[in-house]
Amino acid sequence: MRIAYLDRTVHETDGEPKPNGDVSAISKSIDLQGSVETGDKTTIASKDFGGLYSIKPLALIKPAGSDDISRAIKAASRIPRMTVAARGNGHSINGQAMTNGGLVIDMRSTEENHFRLLNVNGSFFIDVSGGALWENVLTRCVSRFGLAPRSWTDYLSLTVGGTLSNAGVSGQAFRYGPQISNVTELEIVTGKGDITVCSETRNPELFFGSLGGLGQFGIITRARVKLQPAPDMVRWIRVVYTEFDEFTRDAEFLVSRDDGESFDYVEGFVFCNNDDPVNGWPAVPLDPVHGFNPGIIPQTGASVLYCLEVAFHYQKGDHPSTVDKAVAGLLKRLRFVEGLKSQVDLSYVEFLLRVKRAEEQAKANGIWDAPHPWLNLFISKSNIVDFDQTVFKKMVKDGIGGPMLIYPLMGSKWDNRTSVALPDSEIFYLVALLRFVSRGPSVEESVAQNREIVEWCIKEGLDFKLYLPHYQSKEGWKRHFGDQWTRFVERKASFDPMAILAPGQNIFKRTHLS
Ligand code: FAD
Repeated sequence: MRIAYLDRTVHETDGEPKPNGDVSAISKSIDLQGSVETGDKTTIASKDFGGLYSIKPLALIKPAGSDDISRAIKAASRIPRMTVAARGNGHSINGQAMTNGGLVIDMRSTEENHFRLLNVNGSFFIDVSGGALWENVLTRCVSRFGLAPRSWTDYLSLTVGGTLSNAGVSGQAFRYGPQISNVTELEIVTGKGDITVCSETRNPELFFGSLGGLGQFGIITRARVKLQPAPDMVRWIRVVYTEFDEFTRDAEFLVSRDDGESFDYVEGFVFCNNDDPVNGWPAVPLDPVHGFNPGIIPQTGASVLYCLEVAFHYQKGDHPSTVDKAVAGLLKRLRFVEGLKSQVDLSYVEFLLRVKRAEEQAKANGIWDAPHPWLNLFISKSNIVDFDQTVFKKMVKDGIGGPMLIYPLMGSKWDNRTSVALPDSEIFYLVALLRFVSRGPSVEESVAQNREIVEWCIKEGLDFKLYLPHYQSKEGWKRHFGDQWTRFVERKASFDPMAILAPGQNIFKRTHLS
């Protein structure tokens, strides 16, 4: 298809390109196998799951593959200050996949590319497109090969490129590390438009820079993901704690144990000690037939309680008593409130697609499309008690209209050569305040409370990082990356000298490189 791009004048006031009303002349044309949308057809690219920002691109490119992406980037580099942003499935919160007046590359159009199983010395890998949804990777790998990736996110309608640009964390990460620790090779179209294959040994700076690289080094067009045999079944269990120190001690005990001596998945969440339908007792039971009995909660139970969520993998052929015994052996080491336990058995695929069912319900209730001012943090073990005391027990004790996740991760399972910024300690917690404003505080209140929480963390000197970071200022980014700032900027400059790859609100402006 022959595509024409519009030239435009750029305002120099803030270093960002702005579409100009005088847009007049056709300045560039390139050949693409895919297609380009302009005008109203770009609306999808001006929104994301967060629903907080609306930023209009000049065009939405639906590439057929890496060659199209390379041509688009090279064409953009010839237009002064034209920016390019990859869009996975647009499930960012703060406009990370948007660009103001630039080109958005819709990676979903490349879903089918590259899908191929590899056997390397007896270990299995799957090559997948950067635009593939993890849920499709899961169902295809399990149904065709009986294999599955090892590390997941809770929700799988996210793209491979989108989560690898951040980290990709869920209840398996304590054992296998985040998703970025489970890929061995990437194909990337760099900010120069070069189509480059990279790995730990081949172009390692590009490989590690792009993992957790916030889309700043290039566009991930293919990833090679480690696979393992998929279990048939999962026993999914929730147990309740009144005391934070007991909850964290048990969670840390489980994530610190060797393979084969713990559960296969460990997460947790905070809930309110009341009957609030979203954040209260009803949030706990997995099995709706056996509800939650608040009469069992000890008198010491404060305004918020804690739920440890674990899962145990098994095969259909395993005898039920063997599974019961193994699970009981693990549970007996934990000090949850006797009687406050809930469990279900379901297939491995159903378990991994559990949030999809929540999505379907939320869509039916009309709350999925409401704004989501989410806050995700990594907080050092040494500060998590302070965080509980101030944030969970005071600031959000009445709930937020959505889940409040908290679970420990192991720093040694992360590769410090990637771009992700982490707290310093070996054990740190993921804390996620997943707000649905239609059933909680307003957008303004939620955003203000998120800011208050982050400012409190800074003021108290907590060892913490934002996960899925988003800052408006160079100072914010410098603080975020800390010692890694120089490495990040130098890496970025070498793969993207024009600085044309721009996440939301063009937070990495050209001036940041100077
Ligand atoms: P987008 O939002 O489209 O893009 C995200 C960023 O990646 C942007 O900067 C974009 O430019 C860049 N990007 C996208 N594709 C590419 C590519 N191919 N190459 C280079 N850069 C690219 N995260 C977790 O870790 N664990 C969870 O359990 C989890 N659960 C979630 C549940 C829900 C309901 C939602 C909405 C989000 C969740 N997330 C979770 C966050 C999620 O991983 C990130 O927001 C992720 O970036 C979204 O993926 P996406 O495909 O929609 O990416």
